Amino acid sequence: MRFLHSHKTLEPEHQETLSRSFFQGRAGKEVQHCIQCGTCSGSCPLAGEMDLGPRRVLDLLRDGFMEDVLRSRTIWLCVSCNACLTRCPRGIPVPDVMYVLRVMALEHGLACRGYKMPDVYQGFLRQGEKRGRVSESRLAAGYGLLHPSDMPGRLSLALRLLRRRRI
Ligand code: SF4
Ligand code: SF4
Repeated sequence: MRFLHSHKTLEPEHQETLSRSFFQGRAGKEVQHCIQCGTCSGSCPLAGEMDLGPRRVLDLLRDGFMEDVLRSRTIWLCVSCNACLTRCPRGIPVPDVMYVLRVMALEHGLACRGYKMPDVYQGFLRQGEKRGRVSESRLAAGYGLLHPSDMPGRLSLALRLLRRRRI
């Protein structure tokens, strides 16, 4: 087995606990039916950007390699387009699986290091929980506080979008 991340932090018992909790949920139960045909990876428009394809994610989950999966960029790149689900011969809800994994990664502090998507996602979830809806300007402000060096580039994009009446 090739590990994606050389700096493992979880003890095997901790990985087993995470794995057990994942497979007790609805998404985990569905994953058991995967036949590893690879149609999901072949259909995914983001597969070329992912460090693990969707098929590989399911394979690692079933083998108990929770840390590899939870630390991967893949779970943050999924845009829930449903292309994989539409074509999966077993009807496995891969987008739901990715969602559950994102929440688990945040809850257990395992989100991919040095990658900004988890911060955006966490802001999104916090607003949804607190306010029942998400404001794009609040989301952008929260992101700006965490990553101030990104803001000049984002502001110029926002101005261009405003000029074209896209926001
Ligand atoms: S398409 Fe469905 S059955 Fe095939 S590898 Fe992907 S999840 Fe598994
Ligand atoms: S839902 Fe996610 S994993 Fe499935 S094809 Fe779309 S981006 Fe890829």
